[in-house]
Amino acid sequence: MMNKSHTNKKYIREIETIVKEGLCLRCGTCVGICPNDAIILNEDYYPYCPDYEICNDCGLCLKVCPGIEVNLPEIVKQTFGEIDYDYYSNGFFTKPYIGKTTDENILEKASSGGVVTQLLDSLLNENIIQGAIVTTSCYDKPWKAEPILARKSDEILKSAQSKYSVSPVNSLLKELENLDGKIAYVGLPCHIHGLKKAISLKSKLKDKIYIIIGLLCSTNIEEISTKDMLWASKIKEQDVKKIEFRKGDWPGKTGVKVKNGTQKELHHLSHKEGAFVFLMRLYPCNRCLYCIDASSEFADISVGDPWIKDERGSYKYSGGWSLVIERTNKGKEVLSHIKSKNKLILKQIPENELFESNKTVLYNKKKINSIRLDRAKKRGKIVPNYHIKLPNFTTKDFINERFYALTLIFRKSRFFQRLIVKTLVSRLGLILIYLKRIIRKILNPNKKRKY
Ligand SMILES: Cc1cc2nc3c(=O)[nH]c(=O)nc-3n(C[C@H](O)[C@H](O)[C@H](O)COP(=O)(O)OP(=O)(O)OC[C@H]3O[C@@H](n4cnc5c(N)ncnc54)[C@H](O)[C@@H]3O)c2cc1C
Ligand code: SF4
Ligand code: SF4
Ligand code: SF4
Repeated sequence: MMNKSHTNKKYIREIETIVKEGLCLRCGTCVGICPNDAIILNEDYYPYCPDYEICNDCGLCLKVCPGIEVNLPEIVKQTFGEIDYDYYSNGFFTKPYIGKTTDENILEKASSGGVVTQLLDSLLNENIIQGAIVTTSCYDKPWKAEPILARKSDEILKSAQSKYSVSPVNSLLKELENLDGKIAYVGLPCHIHGLKKAISLKSKLKDKIYIIIGLLCSTNIEEISTKDMLWASKIKEQDVKKIEFRKGDWPGKTGVKVKNGTQKELHHLSHKEGAFVFLMRLYPCNRCLYCIDASSEFADISVGDPWIKDERGSYKYSGGWSLVIERTNKGKEVLSHIKSKNKLILKQIPENELFESNKTVLYNKKKINSIRLDRAKKRGKIVPNYHIKLPNFTTKDFINERFYALTLIFRKSRFFQRLIVKTLVSRLGLILIYLKRIIRKILNPNKKRKY
């Protein structure tokens, strides 16, 4: 790797290069593992070393970094033992379900069926765990996410609902060292990659984690996306009290509570149909464009939204259900225990429905992102190494990747980001979204992606 840092500390220089090359996930694993507290996070959650003298060049930070390397075969073995593994699927699982909490209060606050929050709350109340690593909103900057080690039910409840913003979840791993008992861990696929790497170096960490709950993930977006939405909606940042990314009936939409007590919605239509969808192309985090894990493949339980449509084209499981993927014995044990306490409704679904729910994200991550990664590698760029062979690509995959790349061109221009967001939240934006829908239907009336 090339380095321009002034320090002679080899590993810190490598971390600086990872950040500079846009490969940092801002997962915080390097911070969570550093024995000397030599790395901290800046305001945007990028790691840096404020005083090179504190670093003893032990190399742990680089060894755990999932931004540059994720040895997937090793993580498969660590998680599931010796099995045949399809790296271009939703991963290994035992059963797929849809699930929902029986607690109306949790359901109202959650993103989908409140399964994640219900599991954590029940495990805490039964004293099976002493806390949970979760992500909440920053009090003074509600568009920003922050990880916390929640010790009380109300902290867990406050963390419910997705924050479409970066959260350096693994920076909290340090707090587990002196913790009595076990915790539950909630993270995105990339957080879990970092966690698994950290566990392989520090086996004590494994004893501290009772269960790993992973979220499905298409892309994360930069927090500036929410600030631009506020600007486009003429809401001053200093007036914002609370932001809810999945407010209201499933699938919800981005809602804002203003300090004067009024509530506003930041876009027309829902989370899945409105302006929010376009933010994934306008403000994606850099490293997400190389990410190939769509469903937290190495969690004990993965949870997402059930984007499954019926014959008429309506969502089959609307009204607040989570998609739940049981992957390990621990996952199975916890799901059936909480269900037996009547805290959770679980209904098994056919495997093809799981695939159906996640197929677009799966295609984008496994094919489009792999093509992008390969192309960048051939151009001599530093790219993450997943230690697996690339899948076979068809001409259609290459064409799709080029089209995808085209939709990403505006993300580097602040002018276009703001212009497009301003348009999307306006009435004209609403007309354009409907128009896009009609054109799609005409061009592709029975769109079924083969994969
Ligand atoms: C960035 C992002 C992208 C996602 N993409 C998809 C997708 O493409 N397809 C899909 O089906 N589902 C996706 N999800 C998951 C989905 O939004 C719901 O989180 C999931 O359905 C769980 O719902 P729930 O009601 O059971 O969880 P809840 O009970 O609402 O609990 C949500 C949990 O998520 C944690 N969390 C919230 N934000 C973050 C964050 N930024 N980083 C780490 N943890 C966080 C909280 O700590 C909380 O414990 C995504 C989530 C995020 C944060
Ligand atoms: S002390 Fe070790 S882990 Fe910490 S920054 Fe230096 S090399 Fe990285
Ligand atoms: S460990 Fe995470 S936060 Fe640290 S450099 Fe790597 S990707 Fe970035
Ligand atoms: S797309 Fe991948 S890298 Fe980006 S937040 Fe989701 S899991 Fe992490």
